Amino acid sequence: MKTNYINPEIIATFKEWMKKYDNYVIVAHISPDGDAIGSSLSLFHYLFEQNKNVRVIVPNSFPDFFRWMPMINQVIQYDFHPEIAQKAIKEANVICFVDFNALNRCGSIGDFITESGTEAKRILLDHHPFPETCFDLICSHPEMCATAELTFRFITELDSLDSLSRNNAICLYTGMMTDTGGFTYNSNRAEIFEIISKLLAKGIDKDSIYRRIYHNNSINRMRLMGYTLSQKMKIYPNFHTVLITLTQEELKQYGYKKGDTEGFVNLPLEIKDIFFSCFLREDKTAIKVSLRSVGNFSCTDFAQKIYNGGGHRNASGGEHYNSMEDAIECFEKGLEQFHEQLENRK
Ligand code: 5GP
Ligand code: MN
Repeated sequence: MKTNYINPEIIATFKEWMKKYDNYVIVAHISPDGDAIGSSLSLFHYLFEQNKNVRVIVPNSFPDFFRWMPMINQVIQYDFHPEIAQKAIKEANVICFVDFNALNRCGSIGDFITESGTEAKRILLDHHPFPETCFDLICSHPEMCATAELTFRFITELDSLDSLSRNNAICLYTGMMTDTGGFTYNSNRAEIFEIISKLLAKGIDKDSIYRRIYHNNSINRMRLMGYTLSQKMKIYPNFHTVLITLTQEELKQYGYKKGDTEGFVNLPLEIKDIFFSCFLREDKTAIKVSLRSVGNFSCTDFAQKIYNGGGHRNASGGEHYNSMEDAIECFEKGLEQFHEQLENRK
């Protein structure tokens, strides 16, 4: 396995920071997913075990099925505890931005960091393409299956495999597993499995991690999924596309809690000849857009052009600040606009 993957200058500078500085803040993106939380907690474990003062701050809540992760109780939710988070940011010598590429993806935390005038050093650890340049160190590797894969390399190249604890390995595995849908997409590089083998050697129970994340559904979520599959898939056969929409009213009927629709956007891709899937969920302040594709069709282009969003080729998203009807209309116009790429897909 290639071992010096990360730019040695980044490693050398971070080593200098670790010699000089004691206070670290780790920031993840809005609606943190398993990779954002797994990578953040992994860095937390490493820095904490190096006797640093470390805080993990996330902009808003995350699904309950991550609540078992080692040290998850250390995560500060900015919208619940802004004062604690702001104090940590003011005291920080180093801020690590994890699993996102633009400051606005961490919401009000980004605003506060800018307004506070903090002189803390900034490092970005991420695998989304086209990172912003407002960081002192940019460790950006879009070829990685997850930021957690990058974090594994970052810590082991900064220090050693020995410096990864079992709890840290659990967090890294969770990040890699969730960002690849349980290693079912974006996960063909042999090195991914070399890393997994090293994580397993730390004594993690990968079967149990899978069960805690994916076989941990509430009755409400299962029923909402059933309703969505039977009533709410609109099929566009010529475009090999499915659209799912869920309104506030429908979500309420099923006692919706954050995380309950996680993964719904992937379900239509299990249908023969469907290559593009869109899920529009009516949240309180906006319509949340999720896009997924199989193969070459670029969700990123669609997200950017139609919803001013972004992401990866096969998984992107955005927000739409108008009615559900309007979001659907935009989607259907988008299909027309992208009809060549969609129709010709075999
Ligand atoms: P999800 O559908 O899981 O919310 O998001 C999938 C991917 O799309 C994320 O990993 C992220 O890269 C991207 N994404 C989601 N929402 C937004 C958004 O509002 N703006 C941008 N630029 N990217 C997003
Ligand atoms: Mn990720």
